[in-house]
Amino acid sequence: MKNSEAQEDVSISQGIRMMFYMMKPNETSFQTLEEVPDYVKKATPFFISLMLLELVVSWICKGKPPGHLDDALTSISAGVLSRLPSLFFRSIELTTYIYIWENYRLFNLPWDSPWTWYLTFLGIDFGYYWFHRMAHEVNIMWAGHQTHHSSEDYNLSTALRQSVLQIYTSWIFYSPLALFIPPSVYAVHLQFNLLYQFWIHTEVITNLGPLELILNTPSHHRVHHGRNRYCIDKNYAGVLIIWDRIFGTFEAENEKIVYGLTHPINTFEPIKVQFHHLFYIWTTFWATPGFFNKFSIILKGPGWGPGKPRLGLSEEIPEVTGKEVPFSSSASQLLKIYTVVQFAVMLAFYEETFANTAALSQATLLLRVCFIILTLTSIGFLLDQRPKAALMETLRCLVFLMLYRFGHLKPLVPSLSFAFEIFFSICIAFWGVRSMKQLTSSPWK
Ligand SMILES: [Zn+2]
Ligand SMILES: [Zn+2]
Repeated sequence: MKNSEAQEDVSISQGIRMMFYMMKPNETSFQTLEEVPDYVKKATPFFISLMLLELVVSWICKGKPPGHLDDALTSISAGVLSRLPSLFFRSIELTTYIYIWENYRLFNLPWDSPWTWYLTFLGIDFGYYWFHRMAHEVNIMWAGHQTHHSSEDYNLSTALRQSVLQIYTSWIFYSPLALFIPPSVYAVHLQFNLLYQFWIHTEVITNLGPLELILNTPSHHRVHHGRNRYCIDKNYAGVLIIWDRIFGTFEAENEKIVYGLTHPINTFEPIKVQFHHLFYIWTTFWATPGFFNKFSIILKGPGWGPGKPRLGLSEEIPEVTGKEVPFSSSASQLLKIYTVVQFAVMLAFYEETFANTAALSQATLLLRVCFIILTLTSIGFLLDQRPKAALMETLRCLVFLMLYRFGHLKPLVPSLSFAFEIFFSICIAFWGVRSMKQLTSSPWK
């Protein structure tokens, strides 16, 4: 795909349409991969605008926000983490695809034919259905995908709760397309298929009438995110719900849905949100006797155990009452506001880093990525009220000042550069005092 500097802008009309897969073949067909815009990167203002719109609509219709601040921050954190590897490498979904195309293709379908465009739309969506289904039915793939399901709220920010690991298995399901579809067409639809799945993560849209027959809608995807027994392993669709109807995994929304994992992880730490299930598999693998059982732990469903069917027993899924309360942070309102401010500062540097990747040295890029991961972890520690949260935040603010001083983080508003340094110095002093107090007395408060 194109370097960020070389890309022309997406108009507002195109931006809105790309969020709903309403782009036309003639405006989104490219001869080479280098010409394909990074639509996902260009979607940031539309993500933010739609989330604000959802907030307003929810306030007007329900008198409350669509979710919780701590949950939303954790979801956006996961989205940020999942995009960091792309600063250094071309995604494995593209690398493997290009390799197969260059070495094993059977036909060369014309890149500028609308037929190729529509065939790719169907091919990617079909590949997504099977990838998604396997991501729920194969434990090692679930280790990646579970991140997306760990939110106990259901709103547009949940869509951004993406896995770092998922991409390492999803490419397999798209690779047959590389036998006949040019990489430039594939790269366009891979992005649109992902972007389409943003708007369906909402409770403010109830039912879309006849569209519910063909399209994956908020109602269908709510079922997919439910932990009620009737919701488990249902509605895997990306764009077209017809795949679920054909392959017998469709379920319509009926009783009140409780969202999240069947066994909630009760944390806002982004690293745990991403990787906790891998550790679970590791311990279960060694604790399970027998060679074949050990491999079944990896390759059968997350609910499997010796003597059980491949996908486990539905009666072992905890019943929901509808009165479950989502896990929430016990941090004070003031501390939550502080985390939002620090998150916003990090997000501004994150955006600036993606916008200027080509102009940054590898050392600066690496230091910035470390700073972003440290910030997300520290915010998770603060929201979880972890014993070492104050110490970690002191160190993080120190790291920020060092990177800022040595030019690895450029001032966002040069005239406010000095104010920035004062603000972070105050933070260091504040958190430094708190961590000293904690070192001399045990409980966190
Ligand atoms: Zn899923
Ligand atoms: Zn989802």
